[in-house]
Amino acid sequence: IPRPIEQLAAALEETSAVRNKVKAKDAVVFWYKMDLRTTDNRGLWEASEKARETGVPLICLYIVSPQDFEAHLTASVRVDFMMRTLRILKQDLAALDIPLYVETVEKRKEIPSRIIDLMEEWGASHLFANMEYEVDELRREAKMVKMCADRGLAMEVFHDTCVVSPGALTTGSGKQYAVYTPWYRSWVAHVHANPELLATFDPPSKNSPDARDKLASLFDCDIPDVPENKRLSEEDAKRFRALWPAGEHEAVDRLEKFCKEKVGQYAQRRNFPAQAATSSISVHLAAGTLSARTAIRTARDRNKMKKLDAGDEGIKTWISEVAWRDFYKHVLVNWPYICMNKPFKPEYSNIEWSYNSSHFKAWCEGRTGFPIVDAAMRQITNMAYMHNRCRMIVASFLAKDLLIDWRMGERFFMEHLIDGDFASNNGGWGFSASVGVDPQPYFRIFNPLLQSEKFDPEGDYIRKWVPELKDIKGKAIHDPYGRGAAAQAKKAGYPEPIVDHKDSRNRALTVLPYQVPPG
Ligand code: FAD
Repeated sequence: IPRPIEQLAAALEETSAVRNKVKAKDAVVFWYKMDLRTTDNRGLWEASEKARETGVPLICLYIVSPQDFEAHLTASVRVDFMMRTLRILKQDLAALDIPLYVETVEKRKEIPSRIIDLMEEWGASHLFANMEYEVDELRREAKMVKMCADRGLAMEVFHDTCVVSPGALTTGSGKQYAVYTPWYRSWVAHVHANPELLATFDPPSKNSPDARDKLASLFDCDIPDVPENKRLSEEDAKRFRALWPAGEHEAVDRLEKFCKEKVGQYAQRRNFPAQAATSSISVHLAAGTLSARTAIRTARDRNKMKKLDAGDEGIKTWISEVAWRDFYKHVLVNWPYICMNKPFKPEYSNIEWSYNSSHFKAWCEGRTGFPIVDAAMRQITNMAYMHNRCRMIVASFLAKDLLIDWRMGERFFMEHLIDGDFASNNGGWGFSASVGVDPQPYFRIFNPLLQSEKFDPEGDYIRKWVPELKDIKGKAIHDPYGRGAAAQAKKAGYPEPIVDHKDSRNRALTVLPYQVPPG
């Protein structure tokens, strides 16, 4: 069975003669997905060039699909962020006399035919979009390319979300990389050899002034409310909107501020959750309000050596982190079965995970009795975000200390994160549970206490998120019941540890390797 990306490539190849013959009619359409920006957006730029060359207006389109949000486990906070972004995008495009038409299509399987109907209604001949790498999306696009060709329309789909397109880098023997470090070396060499990969795409050209009259009804359309299945409570909406301002201008400001104030110290400080030393731009990379090219180019340009992997330590390290995002998309494209609830390493499919619901509930609610784990789980529910070090700690705790199926944690993250991204989330969980690509070995089991002492030495992060423990002094903060602060913790209503780390470690060491068939 060809991989979905090959199905799309085949559809584009098969229809190329027909597509090349399609004559421009009354408009060119750009279909927005997870690329909600005007600047450095390849598909949008290509659409704009087509419109300019053929002298027709550009129309932008976004389809809201409640069923799609369900299928992708998109967190309500993320949907809210996208809808806020759409309002800003609509204004930015309107300043270029380009309408952004937004419509809700309940059932996701109806999206392709609805888009084609709209094109026919608008007399549009060409449809442009950027590629999304999940299996369903690649298959849908392959089908749409053919549907368009059958109706005498041309659909073009571009690589945009990664700096280096998934599949572009292969090992010396022509295989796909399954380990990050050699892949990263090859990624750096490839970008250094092809610096145009980091060049920006200009915003779209202005439509001619008469587009305003011709397309008045599209300019007048409202951005719909957040669909009912994803609506936030008033209190949550207020908090999240203050924490995560939307739109591409905010993304660029955040990036610039990080590069000016924090990237220099990133290598030393990035692992300490109390220090807010990371960029917090994952929300923007996930919604596409910022492109990975812009992120990496901006950091590289601040590096005196103008290199990705040499010079300023902080910049080098940060770029190598942003590259993980590219790596996980590359993994998704090349091993698409990870989209189907399967671990990257098939031999890890038959581990006997626990489904202890009271343990899972304690983990979700941040009441495991392990302060660093609980602080992190409360951070995610409060902020829709969690620091990377803490994501690793809580993932390891769920999969190894509690031996709970890592996919339950993966799902919980997607349902709560504002930066939820299938490829990075699946990659992070696979790594932490030792079942993914380039995983840590199963016998490397984080000790939550040591992690806590090392990365939150003063307990500031714990005190911020677990207020029951805020008056506990010194090292006892990391383990109040084991370090003489039991009475105080109990009085404050903080739970005792739900497992003993030593015992659960031994249990994991017994269960995890036994499931791997010999050889
Ligand atoms: P910075 O440290 O400033 O890094 C800059 C950017 O690099 C990030 O915004 C992100 O796009 C990328 N990046 C950094 N580390 C990683 C990484 N390990 N994997 C992939 N990309 C990385 N990231 C997501 O964007 N969405 C997710 O759903 C997600 N789920 C995760 C689940 C687990 C279990 C783990 C261990 C990690 C997960 N990550 C995820 C990666 C990482 O935790 C976040 O990208 C990071 O914490 C975001 O904060 P930041 O923007 O301040 O990161």
